Amino acid sequence: AKSLGRARYHLFDPDMHKQAIELLDLENDLRRAVERQEFIIYYQPIVRLSTGKIAGFEALVRWQHPTRGLILPTDFIPAAEEMGLIYPINTWIFKTVCQQLHIWQQDCRFPTNITISVNLSARLFSNHNLISIIDNIIYQTEVNPANIELEITESVIMENNDTVKNMLQQLKQRNFKLVIDDFGTGYSSLSYLHSFPLNSLKIDKSFVKIMQENQENMGLVPAMIGISHSMGMQAIAEGIETPEQLAQLRSLNCDLGQGYFFSKPIQHELIPQFLYTDFCW
Ligand code: C2E
Ligand code: CA
Ligand code: CA
Ligand code: CA
Repeated sequence: AKSLGRARYHLFDPDMHKQAIELLDLENDLRRAVERQEFIIYYQPIVRLSTGKIAGFEALVRWQHPTRGLILPTDFIPAAEEMGLIYPINTWIFKTVCQQLHIWQQDCRFPTNITISVNLSARLFSNHNLISIIDNIIYQTEVNPANIELEITESVIMENNDTVKNMLQQLKQRNFKLVIDDFGTGYSSLSYLHSFPLNSLKIDKSFVKIMQENQENMGLVPAMIGISHSMGMQAIAEGIETPEQLAQLRSLNCDLGQGYFFSKPIQHELIPQFLYTDFCW
């Protein structure tokens, strides 16, 4: 009886009530956002560190909320995953990116080797239709999968699940490039990594940030770059903000990098001005 009383008390706790209302608002808002396609893609340049040339762009979604303004993905992607809305949102993102890529590829000045990276939520891999939906979008938009990098987190491969492995093999067969995002944050076993058809490891920005702090932290980034290279993969560093970080990553032979030092994520209209200017240092 006592615990029931407690529960009833909580039900009328004004804070919880407020939280519940906010959650309900967010859910309604997100459903409407999906219907009305209130999302927009920003693109962040990815630079080849040996040459300063643009290698590609990462597509990063934002929500243009009618009253609250631009909302960052960390404030709605986790909620969308919980509410089962990540599937329509992430497929909209993938399709929009492919449409954009198709437009660029019609322009003969557009470098043929530029890639666009798309983040795929781990949740998508529990849907057995994922591959056929991707196939459909590729067919409709007529883009070459070789120009698309799919970023997945370590959690996707951590279970070492045969169905997921099979899906990744199928994506690989279609010539998509596969990247492990936020590498180092998800405890993936190195022996697992070996058995997946991966092209690159993206070193999480938290490691780049602490790289120059002390002797212990110093060793992590070179180790991760070494792991990438020993497995025949490229290393990508994210969150490069300072010339010192860039210089250090270059001296470690890190292949690619992105971060505010080069550019914040930008709207697609600004991409052409990035394409034809190399970074120099
Ligand atoms: P992420 O994939 O690790 O993306 C990198 C995040 O770091 C982006 O935040 C980017 O704006 C930010 N960033 C880039 N350069 C710097 C820098 O120099 N310093 C710092 N401090 N931050 C930098 P954003 O755009 O807020 O995205 C956050 C996360 O939301 C992404 O992390 C990704 O996990 C998720 N996300 C973004 N777009 C999508 C999407 O289209 N689909 C899915 N499923 N998730 C997405
Ligand atoms: Ca990413
Ligand atoms: Ca990342
Ligand atoms: Ca991250």
